[in-house]
Amino acid sequence: MTAQLIDGTAIAAAVRAEVAAAVAARAAAGKSQPGLATVLVGEDAASQTYVRSKRKASAEAGIASVAHELPASATQREVEALVAQLNADPRVHGILVQLPLPGGLDEEKVLAAISLEKDVDGFHPINIGRLAMKGRQPLFVPCTPAGCMVLLEAAGATFKGAHAVVLGRSNIVGLPAALLLLHRDATLTVCHSRSHDLPAICRTADILIAAVGRPEMVKADWVKPGAFVIDVGINRVPDATRKSGSRLVGDVAFDEVKEVAGALTPVPGGVGPMTIAMLLRNTLRAAEIADR
Ligand code: NDP
Repeated sequence: MTAQLIDGTAIAAAVRAEVAAAVAARAAAGKSQPGLATVLVGEDAASQTYVRSKRKASAEAGIASVAHELPASATQREVEALVAQLNADPRVHGILVQLPLPGGLDEEKVLAAISLEKDVDGFHPINIGRLAMKGRQPLFVPCTPAGCMVLLEAAGATFKGAHAVVLGRSNIVGLPAALLLLHRDATLTVCHSRSHDLPAICRTADILIAAVGRPEMVKADWVKPGAFVIDVGINRVPDATRKSGSRLVGDVAFDEVKEVAGALTPVPGGVGPMTIAMLLRNTLRAAEIADR
């Protein structure tokens, strides 16, 4: 292995400890306990697991979390009424609506109904819009891309003038990651399913973020020697040697890319743990905003 392994588990633990210390200092100073409201609509098993782990991590950091669950049959009006109620509740500093919402609900309208100051997922169109504008700053940045930036910083990447390539342009990961890199003065290329000759484009990247959801797509000969590679992908593939019959891999072929890259995140244990850590950091920030 020639690449530096970027240990997301350790870096996320440090962020979580930092948040927990700040929450404790708030309590000692007589300030409010940060509160996170989670909204889960329907019974999607993966979404239930994500919400459970977000609530557990909140509790560990001293953040109060309140779970709200609505049936899959909930109407647009009911979901928006719940968001309005949470907007008005001073004990709630952050509102997290777990995505995806069941079909039939207008996700964009629900996200736009969240108060800007409580938008700890950073998906409100105004927060995303500010991220897209030069010289403007959103109140909150989406958690997974924010986590990618923390990992790159920890690994010692320089952004100014570097060529950054982002594979994927989703609203949740690829696009905000690209905008964050642009804010840091990187020269940016964003690739997607219609892009031509991905290997040639990726080979010019000093910083490569892969967020496509395609198991081990990025091969060693796609990577510039010494590049910083962040693997956002989480893909389950069959593996007969495992008791479970499967294992998780990223979008990057880890075993071969580690021989070429300068620094690389593993899957699991890379970007994954950062997402929740950044949610906690955003919730603390929301409480600080409410203090003003
Ligand atoms: P989406 O499916 O929303 O977006 C995938 C993006 O990749 C799209 O922009 C798509 O292009 C592009 N794409 C798909 N196939 C190819 C291809 N063959 N070549 C080039 N581009 C391609 O996924 P997400 O952004 O939500 O997630 C991406 C991955 O990250 C998934 O594996 C997901 O599980 C993981 N993830 C991990 C998180 C974490 O905490 N670690 C959090 C969120 C996601 P187009 O726009 O043209 O369709």
